[in-house]
Amino acid sequence: MKNFKILLVDDEPANISILMGIFGSDYEIYVATDGKSALEIATSQDKPDLILLDISMPEMDGFEVGYHLKHNKYTSNIPFIFLTAKDDEESMIRGFKEGAVDYLTKPFRKEELLVRVKNHLQKQKLQNSLAEAMQNLQNKMIELDKAKQEFEAIFNQSQNGIALTDLDTNFLLVNNSYSRITGFTKEELLKKSCIGLSEEKDKIKSQEIVKTALNVGYVENFEKKCIGKDKSIYVNTSISLMPDKQRLLLNTSDVTKLKNAEKKIEQYVDIMDKNIISSSTDLDGNITEVSEAFCNLTGYTKDEFIGKKHNFLKHADVKKSAYQQMWETITNNETWNGEVKNIKKNGSLYWANTTIFPIFSDENIKTGYIAIRQDITDKKRIEELSITDELTKLYNRRYFNEVFERELRRVQRDTKSITFLMLDVDHFKLYNDTYGHQEGDIVLAKIGKILGEFANRAGDYAFRLGGEEFGLLYQSDDTQKAEEYAINITNAIENLQIPHANNTASNFVTASIGVVFKDSQENITPNEMYKIADDSLYLAKEMGRNRVQIHKYVSN
Ligand code: GH3
Ligand code: MG
Ligand code: MG
Repeated sequence: MKNFKILLVDDEPANISILMGIFGSDYEIYVATDGKSALEIATSQDKPDLILLDISMPEMDGFEVGYHLKHNKYTSNIPFIFLTAKDDEESMIRGFKEGAVDYLTKPFRKEELLVRVKNHLQKQKLQNSLAEAMQNLQNKMIELDKAKQEFEAIFNQSQNGIALTDLDTNFLLVNNSYSRITGFTKEELLKKSCIGLSEEKDKIKSQEIVKTALNVGYVENFEKKCIGKDKSIYVNTSISLMPDKQRLLLNTSDVTKLKNAEKKIEQYVDIMDKNIISSSTDLDGNITEVSEAFCNLTGYTKDEFIGKKHNFLKHADVKKSAYQQMWETITNNETWNGEVKNIKKNGSLYWANTTIFPIFSDENIKTGYIAIRQDITDKKRIEELSITDELTKLYNRRYFNEVFERELRRVQRDTKSITFLMLDVDHFKLYNDTYGHQEGDIVLAKIGKILGEFANRAGDYAFRLGGEEFGLLYQSDDTQKAEEYAINITNAIENLQIPHANNTASNFVTASIGVVFKDSQENITPNEMYKIADDSLYLAKEMGRNRVQIHKYVSN
């Protein structure tokens, strides 16, 4: 392969063929027989590596060609040699002045020409590769400079504190964030060590971590407390050993805010755990978590709660239907609220105003329920006291007024039947007179107990209406059943066999009852119903006491 291209320029074809003979076998040859075409070839894409240039040519002589070659950026580095018959000193000087690398006169020696051409080509080649190397070097310098600028920008703009230290963690290089995080200036930091910044109790731990980094090459994300210039800070740091194994690279972020927030949350969680009576369940109602406050209220430990269902706390009075209604609400993803009567581990009861709501995962999938409660036992006790008759423990007159109206309205609305009876102890004045008022009270308590026992179904109510008068609201299917029920009460009272010497109706304490049965179709006001019961009672007294008088109300 021919490595170099030579352009031969001569207007004499004989000269050209001589030169072809000399160079043709070792070089690729271009030929031009005038100055103008010489310049065309020199400026072509595949330009020659060297030009042999005749001077005396018509139109454009060699000097002019040389001048153009030198003054064109594209051709200025192509070496050209004048090969001419002009051997005067003046022409030679001019030739070099025009930029020729050599000047040879005809006739020439073939060997000399070959050697000179070869030398110039090699020199040119050397120069070209030197120029190329210089260019590469310059490009590399530019790249390096750019990389340095980029590194500095990243280094100093990083939110994390980045530092290089020696193997004893003495700072060698720190970025702006390192200053910002610690509060120390760069100059101050360069006189300190990373371990030196650690809080006293974290120093040994820090030393251990550095040791590990030296052994393993890196340690990621360890947290420690540091003493900054005028504040304590929590940092999260990663250490890695630099490739030279002589320095450590530290990457530190300030997690003080996060740490403080975490602490605050922990405090809140603790306060909530101690003060909020709460529990969580899975979707089936199995308890997964309970607060300390819930344990304190009920007397059960967390372990005793976990895995159980809340119904083990259920009071016998609470109906299943109440629980069903609650489940219906929360399975519909609604919040349920209600007052719940429960039993503690020690058997005593408590009342809780309970709110239960479903909880959802981030993907909006229901994962379970949370219940929070308020202990309303005291409030309930007061409420109960205010509606309870102290002597008989039955509901008092005040509560009767409320319930009687409400229940009548309810059965009217639901077209249900209801029975109301009024009971009055027979010759009770005489009883008191004979046995004393205190004994009289004991009798009233015993009668109250019986009435309480008869009002044992859901929706039944027993009242002490005042003095020795009682009321009972209860369910019966018809007049006959209502009457039978009342007769059973009078029998039960007489069967107490409390001696009452002055009772005209029996040797024992007895009572008379007036009953009103309202069937589902009838309309009646509370006042009307009360009056009819009272009238019936009066009739029962009239007819000899210790008996039941029933009145079936008929609407008109
Ligand atoms: P009757 O058979 O007609 O009902 O006769 P009675 O004596 O029961 O009727 P009366 O209304 O004349 O008397 C009611 C008595 O009940 C008067 C009162 O001394 C007594 N009494 C009312 N409240 C109490 C109470 O709380 N304790 C006691 N021991 N006696 C009471
Ligand atoms: Mg009376
Ligand atoms: Mg009486």
